[in-house]
Amino acid sequence: MSEVLRLSGVSKTYGGGETAIEVLNEADLTIDRGEIVALAGPSGSGKSTLLHIAGLLDNADAGRIEVGGSDVSGLDDRGRTAARRAEIGFVYQFHHLLPEFSAVENVVLPQLASGVGAKPAGKRAEELLASVGLAGRAGHRPAELSGGEQQRVAMCRALANRPGLLLADEPTGNLDVETSESVFEMLLGLVRNEGLGALIATHNPELAGRMDRTVTLSGGKIV
Ligand code: ADP
Ligand code: MG
Repeated sequence: MSEVLRLSGVSKTYGGGETAIEVLNEADLTIDRGEIVALAGPSGSGKSTLLHIAGLLDNADAGRIEVGGSDVSGLDDRGRTAARRAEIGFVYQFHHLLPEFSAVENVVLPQLASGVGAKPAGKRAEELLASVGLAGRAGHRPAELSGGEQQRVAMCRALANRPGLLLADEPTGNLDVETSESVFEMLLGLVRNEGLGALIATHNPELAGRMDRTVTLSGGKIV
């Protein structure tokens, strides 16, 4: 099976001197295409830090990051942006949609930035939104959508450019239990449909149990 993500010896310390916090200490992790992995660990164990580094949103102090089989650790900002746009979808705990744009525009825009034409981008966006039950909400702005609907749009946006890897940071952590259940089910459905590899941080053992396997952050390492 081909790898969508490989982290080798990834280390990260915040601050310095007496107040330095070592968050990651030579963490290793590999995710194959089509595999959905839960990232567990208590609050403060470094889940967000690891996801941001894997998502090329933050830099590691040391270690190697391979996405889709290519080493991306040495890329400059421009290269990182290009690799992120092409290869990685990211879902945050809070939706981070653009407030001035409609749901469908939020899913179209990353595709336009990657050079996809307006027509195929619109078609892809409408298909994704329909697949999470939002066909009737495509023209609404984020403020006109419920929390669960906003998060469903954010999931569609993350998948818009057909990345090989999906990273999600407690994607249903802000939702009530019932909404969380259904949104999480849709996320797993989307990821399986698209055949992606995924790393999804969650506090919830029940949600973790629905993924293919669980890895846990402890003492800065993946165990
Ligand atoms: P988790 O997502 O598992 O709750 P985080 O990755 O957010 O953990 O945080 C891990 C540790 O790193 C925490 O102790 C947190 O306070 C610290 N931390 C996270 N981001 C920063 C930052 N930008 N500056 C300093 N410390 C940080
Ligand atoms: Mg976190």
